Parts: sequence; C-alpha cells; structure tokens
Amino acid sequence: MDSETFLKFGEAMLKYITEYTDNIRERRVLPTVSPGYLRPLIPSSPPDEGEPWQNIMADIERVIMPGVTHWNSPHFHAYYPTANSYPALVADMLSSAIGCVGFTWIASPSCTELEIVMMDWLGKMVHLPDKFLTVESRGVGGGMIQGTASEANLLTLLTARTRMVKYCKNNRKPGYDETTILGRLVAYASDQAHSSVERAGLLAGVKMNLIKTDDILEMRGDALKFAIRRDKAKGLIPFYVVATLGSTNTCAFDKLSEIGEVCAEEGVWLHVDAAYAGSAFICEEFRHLMNGVEFADSFNFNPHKWLLVNFDCSALWIANSKEIVDSFNVDPPCLRHASNGLIQDFRHREIPFGRRFRSLKLWFVMRIYGLKGLQEHIRGQTKLAHEFEKLVEKDARFELVAPVVMGLVCFRMKDKTNEENGKFLNAINGRGKIHLVSSHLHGKYIIRFAVCSTATASKDVAFAWKEIADVADQLGV
Ligand code: PLP
Repeated sequence: MDSETFLKFGEAMLKYITEYTDNIRERRVLPTVSPGYLRPLIPSSPPDEGEPWQNIMADIERVIMPGVTHWNSPHFHAYYPTANSYPALVADMLSSAIGCVGFTWIASPSCTELEIVMMDWLGKMVHLPDKFLTVESRGVGGGMIQGTASEANLLTLLTARTRMVKYCKNNRKPGYDETTILGRLVAYASDQAHSSVERAGLLAGVKMNLIKTDDILEMRGDALKFAIRRDKAKGLIPFYVVATLGSTNTCAFDKLSEIGEVCAEEGVWLHVDAAYAGSAFICEEFRHLMNGVEFADSFNFNPHKWLLVNFDCSALWIANSKEIVDSFNVDPPCLRHASNGLIQDFRHREIPFGRRFRSLKLWFVMRIYGLKGLQEHIRGQTKLAHEFEKLVEKDARFELVAPVVMGLVCFRMKDKTNEENGKFLNAINGRGKIHLVSSHLHGKYIIRFAVCSTATASKDVAFAWKEIADVADQLGV
C-alpha cells in the first residue's frame, strides 16, 4: 500500500472511529451473537489476490461490530473501565509506525529513555516515595511499563522468590538446599486479591496463603502477622505479600501501613497491587489510602484502566531495580551494546523479550490533559458513582454491600436469595441496554456497577437506574 492510499484508508478509518465513538450510546452494549458466529461470515481461506481497502471497511459493520462488547459505551458498567482517549489512540498509531522493539537501549534509545522519564512523571503524579523514582533514587529504583497488572504480580513474585532463595542460601541452615527452600516458600494476599495473584503463585510453583479480611474487606496487619508466624512455626518460609489497594470485587483497601510494618519486621517483599485505584492517587483526597507505601518493595497500577491511556499500559515501580535485573539475567553477546550498563535495558525487567513504544501514550495523555484534566476525570467518575449510590439508597428493595470509595457501587436485592439476585442480573443483561457483572462476597451474590466510559454522564446513571428499577418492577420485586 502506498502513502497516498494509506492516507485515504487512514482518513476513512479515523472518520469511522470518531463516528463509532460519538454514536456508541445508540449501540446495544452487549452483543447477541452465539459462539462461532464469525466463521461463516468470512471465507475459510485467505484471498489469493489482494483486495481494495474499501472491502475491509465495509466488513467492519458486517463481521466485527455484531460481536463487539462495547466497553467504551456509557451503558457499560461491568468489570472495571478500560481507558480510552484520542491522544492515546494517536500515540499508538505513532508507536506502530515507528515499530521498534525496545528490548535494549540501542534497540531504540528514545523508546527506553521516554519510558524512564514518563515513569518518573507518573510516579510524581501519584506521589510515590523517592525510592521508586529513577532520578530521585539515583537509579537504584525506577519504573517500567508492563503489559498488565497480572504480569506485574508474577514478575515481582518471581523476583521476591529469587531474593529469598539467595538469602536462605547465604544464611544456610543445615539441609536447606535450593529444592528444599523452594518447597517451603509461602506468599500471602488478601482473600479479596485479584485471581491473577493466586495464579502467580501457581505459575511460580509456590504456596499462596489467602488471608481472611475483616468486615470491611481489608487485610489487617494482625491477621497477616498471625499467618506468617504460624507458617514459620511449621518450617515454611514466608517471602512475599501482595497488598491490594482497590480490590476487584468491591474496591476495598488493605491496611497498607499495618501490612508494611509486618513485612518489614518479617523480612518479606511487599508488593502493592493498585491496578484500578492507583490512578485515583493523583487526587490528594484519595492518597491517604496509600499510607504505608514507603514500606513497599514494588508498586503497580494500570493507567490502562482509569487514566485515559488505552490498553496496554501497566505501570510498575521497583525500589531496588538491581534485584529484578539480577534475578533473570541472561546476557547473550548479540544483545550487548557499546553503552551497556550506562542505562536501563528493559529486557531484564519483564517476562517478554520484545516491547512496544508504550510510553508515547503516557506522554501524549499527560501533556494533552495535564494533571488537572486527569484529576477532573477521576473526580467526575467518582461523583457519578455517588449519584448511583444515592439511587440505590433511596429504593427500599435494594441494599449497598460495600462502601463506595471510587467509581464502583456494589449492591443487591435486599432479602432475596443469591439465585434470585442472579436471575435479576441475567434479566438486566438480557435486555442489552446496560451491562453489569456479578461477584461473590462472603457467600453473598452481589451486583457491581462501575462507571467505565469517559462519556458516562448523569443521564446515563439515571438511565441505568431506570433500567434496573424497570426489571425489578417486571419481576414483581
Ligand atoms: N489486580 C486488580 C486489583 C484488578 O482489579 C485487576 C483487574 O481488574 C487485575 C489485577 C488484573 O489486571 P490486568 O488485566 O492488567 O492483568
């Protein structure tokens, strides 16, 4: 394809994207297709001859859109948001055009260097301690972009595992060879931690102990300390704790300051998973929720959830980068370069080898919106969640099941069984006007309402509530 055709194709696509975005409210948020819907719509083999781009444009509505769940619709209230903004889309275009694979500094210096600076910008925005910032820590700590929070959970767990194995070997007790140490390692997280935390334990082959949370769903220091002491008495080796700030179920916050003290006392790695809530720490009124962050060895949140940076962009900071670099260091001669050791080579700090130029998205978004614009976004969405909360409170048929802190409201039908609540949610989703998902909280079926789209406005909250109330009326609740 030559540049002239690309321009035409690109213009048509930009037009399509803006129309899609502007009119997304009119689309059915959840598709009605059944599994296997797509195969009959396209040929079973690729074309022998190239086709005009117009054919592809025509197929988007016919083939793709019927099977799209519209995550950016203001009627989408499921899971947590997936961030979306035009500046990030434009940055992704440039990233694709440059198309570098920035595994080492020399593989594309600007790819590495912009990421280092952007991670410092972002770290300052959420007021991370200096030890996490490259300049302030004189290169001891620093940030990097990962694909997802799940990768950050696994990567930090693996790094903590290496740290503890080394420690045990250097302070060798009789009979403690590597296999014995590995078999005794135990990690901890709250029973509200994201499933990727438990999965990180499975992938790394270590035990994961899920600590029971208190009645407001926080993991507390005492409960953690008790579990660690009990496990030590059994001969196990505690090595890693994940504190969740903003749980997936209800946006609950572990008591980081208490947990941090326990980790420091017990010599255990503390990782903070703030996948969703981390973005809100750019606003001072939420920052008390990260008290205790000074104890953390690593901290992660997803700008791709709530900070207008399109997927994928998960920000991970490590207090001592050397630990991660040394943990997984494989150094074939072909990857060395004249500036080796003078600056980060990100290949040492991630699971994949290749990496895209994702910091462009951060740069564009932070510059176009500025701190104030991003704060406005977080505050606006939180306000909408409180509007929904008030509607739940006013209707005696429903009850809130967790405090509303940010953009998530969890509720259920009062005095109804889990099965009845499940049927109720199925009926709501079945009508296709809004989309919500459920969760389970201490054996109770709950319904989650998240403010997701950047376009969500008060009228969409009112629309969603009317839909919920209509279904309840229809079911005779
Ligand atoms: N951690 C928490 C607290 C989450 O809420 C989520 C997803 O919602 C994740 C981790 C996983 O995020 P990712 O899709 O970036 O792996």
